[in-house]
Amino acid sequence: MISPCLLCSAECCKNLYITVTAFDVLRISESTGRAVGGFAEIYPLKLINFDNETVLECWDGKYPAEYILCIKSHPCFFLEGGRCTIHDFSPCVCRSFPKGVDGRFKTRLCPIPAGFLFRVLGTNMPRAYAEELDCYKETVAEWNRGKGKVKDCMEFLLKKTKARIKS
Ligand code: SF4
Ligand code: SF4
Repeated sequence: MISPCLLCSAECCKNLYITVTAFDVLRISESTGRAVGGFAEIYPLKLINFDNETVLECWDGKYPAEYILCIKSHPCFFLEGGRCTIHDFSPCVCRSFPKGVDGRFKTRLCPIPAGFLFRVLGTNMPRAYAEELDCYKETVAEWNRGKGKVKDCMEFLLKKTKARIKS
C-alpha cells in the first residue's frame, strides 16, 4: 500500500512525543545496536496522544508523579533529513498513527489529502504489535502496583519485557 505519509513532511515525527512500549525499545536497540538510554527516556507526562494504560506512576521526591516511556522527541531522535531511519522496525505508535487509542483518526497534523487517505485506507499496525501493546500494559500495571522510583523504572520495564519475550 502506498503510504499517505508520502504527501507529508513528517509533521508528526517533528511535533509529537513518540510514546513507545518496552518491546519497541528492545527491538530498536537490537536492530540499531544503540544503547536504550541513548534514544529512549521515561518522560514526565505532558502528551496529547497517550494511552492511559501506559502511564507510569513513579515516586519523584515526596509524591508519586505520572511518566511515559518515549523516544527522545521534538523532533524524533530517528528522524533524519525528513525521513525515518528505522522504518522497518518503527514503534507501534508510528504504525497506528494517526489513528488514536480511542479508534478515531487524529489528522490535524496531516495534510488534508493524507488525512483523507488514512480514513479510507486505514493504518497498518501489525497484529503482533497490538499483542505486544496488551502485554506491555500488563507490565505497566505491575509497575504501578509497586510505584518505584523513576530512576528504576526503565530497568524494570526492560527486565520484565525480556522475560516475557523469552517465555
Ligand atoms: S501520519 Fe500524518 S502527520 Fe504523520 S507523517 Fe503521516 S501524514 Fe504526516
Ligand atoms: S520512529 Fe520514525 S516514524 Fe516514528 S516518529 Fe520517529 S522518525 Fe517518525
